[in-house]
Amino acid sequence: MSWVSALARPEIVQLKSYEHATWEIGLDRLHANELPWRATGDDSVEGLNRYPEPQPRNLIGALAQLYGVPPACVLAGRGSDEMIDLLIRVFCRSGHDDIVICPPTFGMYGVSARIQGAGIASVPLLSAQGFALNVPALLDACGPRVKLVFLCSPNNPTGNALDETSVVHIASRLQERALLVLDEAYVEFSSQGSLVRHLPRLPNLAVLRTLSKAHGLAGARCGALLANAEIIALLRKVIPPYAVSQLTTEAALRQLQPAQLAAMRAGVDMISSERSRMSALLGKVEGVHRIWPSDANFLLVEFQDATRALRRAREAGLLIRDVRAQPGLDRALRISVGTPEQTSRLIEALR
Ligand SMILES: *Cc1c(COP(=O)(O)O)cnc(C)c1O
Repeated sequence: MSWVSALARPEIVQLKSYEHATWEIGLDRLHANELPWRATGDDSVEGLNRYPEPQPRNLIGALAQLYGVPPACVLAGRGSDEMIDLLIRVFCRSGHDDIVICPPTFGMYGVSARIQGAGIASVPLLSAQGFALNVPALLDACGPRVKLVFLCSPNNPTGNALDETSVVHIASRLQERALLVLDEAYVEFSSQGSLVRHLPRLPNLAVLRTLSKAHGLAGARCGALLANAEIIALLRKVIPPYAVSQLTTEAALRQLQPAQLAAMRAGVDMISSERSRMSALLGKVEGVHRIWPSDANFLLVEFQDATRALRRAREAGLLIRDVRAQPGLDRALRISVGTPEQTSRLIEALR
């Protein structure tokens, strides 16, 4: 048995997945109880009367090309949130297995673990070192119950990218014992590139990417897991039969055309320079205690009076995120980088 099968839940390794209607273009479809014509008002490319192709080949191909991995190493679904849930359901037995998280971090790892009944071990990031990983403590926490370690780089809500050498070291040390799941939802905004390029050398590395942030498709719900083909094959058994809707596929394929990708990169540059401008302006506002450096499209900002800052922003018609419930962030708010006009309004409101 391979180490992946040994690590996964035995029920999933043995599971025979649902057999959806076969996908054979060129033949008339009388096997899926679909309507033979489009509904009036259906202006999609392929027609919404048909079930979509599961894991659409053209979408998987486009994502594989975008991220520089073979198609067999890509699973697409309803955002990276769905990939987090699938990973935990495939690898963690309720009441037996654990995940490790490094707070303050993205909340879905913990939520999905609780839904599945998996345990959660926390190894806090080191705020005194700019929210760096505590590598020795993390490795110590990885006992036999731990199946998945979730790291987020750049991290939400702190904004910093994690040190590449540390991440690679942790993955190497966990070889065949646990998966290192690296969430790169914001990597397009970071000067440190994606660690996807380590996949061929690190078979226990799994990388989460999404079209929700830099690509501007949060409403379409499309994210991907990039991992070794055996891990992808296991998750394919568990993902709902038609997880990626036809509308999502069409929106994603449009957005992955060269012209749109060039526009995406220009947008990332605009957000990055607006991030610097916003940070400089916030630095001059009285009551702003600290602005953390950011590799993402948001800033983590500590205030002397965060409650007042939240209220003043709201009075100016701006929602910002209260992250004070997270360990170590008792005065911090997370502010997304928006347009220059929104930045000005925020600064006015806080002054
Ligand atoms: C926004 C976000 C996601 C969610 O991405 P979807 O693809 O929209 O589900 C995942 N991870 C982190 C850290 C995020 O901030």
